[in-house]
Amino acid sequence: MTAPTIVVIGVALLGLLSEGRPLPAGNKSSFNKLLMISFDGFRWNYDQDVDTPNLDLLVKEGVKAKFISPPAIPMTSPSHFTTITGRWIEDHGVVHNLMFNPKTLLKLTHKATQNRSEWWDNGVLPLWITAQNQGLKTASFHYPGGGANFSGQSVTRSLVESYGHPDSNETEWRENIDIVMGWFTKENFDFVTLYYGEPDAVGHAKGPETKERRLMIQQIDRTIGYLLKAIEKHNLKNKLNVIITSDHGMTTIKKAPAVEEIKLSNYIKFNQLVHFDLLDYGGYGMILPKEGKVEEVYQALKNAHPHLKVFKKEEVPESFHIAKQNRILPIVLYGDLGYNLNSRIILNVNKGDHSFTNEHMDMKTIFRAFGPDFKKNFLAAPFDSINIYPLMCKLLGVSPTPHNGSLAYTQDMLVDDIEVQLTQEPTGKKAEASGRKGPRVQKSILQKNKQKKVFVVTLKIHLHNY
Ligand SMILES: [Zn+2]
Repeated sequence: MTAPTIVVIGVALLGLLSEGRPLPAGNKSSFNKLLMISFDGFRWNYDQDVDTPNLDLLVKEGVKAKFISPPAIPMTSPSHFTTITGRWIEDHGVVHNLMFNPKTLLKLTHKATQNRSEWWDNGVLPLWITAQNQGLKTASFHYPGGGANFSGQSVTRSLVESYGHPDSNETEWRENIDIVMGWFTKENFDFVTLYYGEPDAVGHAKGPETKERRLMIQQIDRTIGYLLKAIEKHNLKNKLNVIITSDHGMTTIKKAPAVEEIKLSNYIKFNQLVHFDLLDYGGYGMILPKEGKVEEVYQALKNAHPHLKVFKKEEVPESFHIAKQNRILPIVLYGDLGYNLNSRIILNVNKGDHSFTNEHMDMKTIFRAFGPDFKKNFLAAPFDSINIYPLMCKLLGVSPTPHNGSLAYTQDMLVDDIEVQLTQEPTGKKAEASGRKGPRVQKSILQKNKQKKVFVVTLKIHLHNY
């Protein structure tokens, strides 16, 4: 028999019930808006060797994690998609910046891949779509994946970077902030993701330990200063939460003659053994050997270079959370930190790169947050970027879809709410009425309580049949 449950909600009333109207179920306006900004390739410690007055101010005014860890392919599209879905790479399926097909030998560039829904839409819904399905208005400004359709649904407002889009135009950066402020204030958007291609571009071209990179961090800092002023100007300070994060770090590439670089054609004959490969793209790569040649390729590469790690797909450590994905090719390779994976020739283009395994500190990246729901002057312990998703859901009052993150790593950074559980029993019409909007109901009460300084006490008594 089911034990009957009596739920008693005692309310010290100063206003909640005296208003004589129902609880503000699903009242969107009770939740603050959210802007999530990604500065591509912002290594965790880039603010430590250059003056960054605005980022420093944010430490006082908000939350800083010492660093966060990207997923095990610290590459732009895989990592950004983990942040916006809360899923590991093996679940969301975006295993590379390049859309590829080993059967047809197709390879598309990173930018050409942005609009290809078949690359992004693998049954996992990003937060834009989940939030829209729960009544919110969302937008993506250049954020990777935002231009795709998911189960036939597109992001309400989505701008995708054009081919010739400049990464470092500070004037355009400010214009983009102005546009986003307009979306929040004039068009009542609830959630916007805004992406910038720096400091990734300068990190690749010049290297992370350079004057050019430090100047770019100062440009980013000025842009954050512009953002803070824009938020005040648009009266959003008490209504808008902001998360500033990134997808991976950057390290200096080791080059000959200081080291022996990795060139795989020194060890295998590509035209005889390899059907398809994804190499020459930083510290991570994959190979599809010709039929019956997996073992031969594996044995030839396994101990070929002291700084090359080679796995058969089934040997990739489970903690990487990549191997269960069909798109991962039979041979997976990582270079040790700073050793890029070159296939047939060494192009020597990039001075900095990423996509090395995520335990290296140079691959760690940033997390900052501020706004009405965040504590001030709060230093958070490091965590995995996958945990940003449930945090964003909580801030927006969205019921998350299944994900691999946890609020446990981020809930301490939020302002103390009175712990209220709206313990309506999920039966009959009440359950239908509350439905998926449960979390939003709860937050609405909390906010109302904060405004009116009332205390809500929930007492739940279980009467067991013995
Ligand atoms: Zn990136």
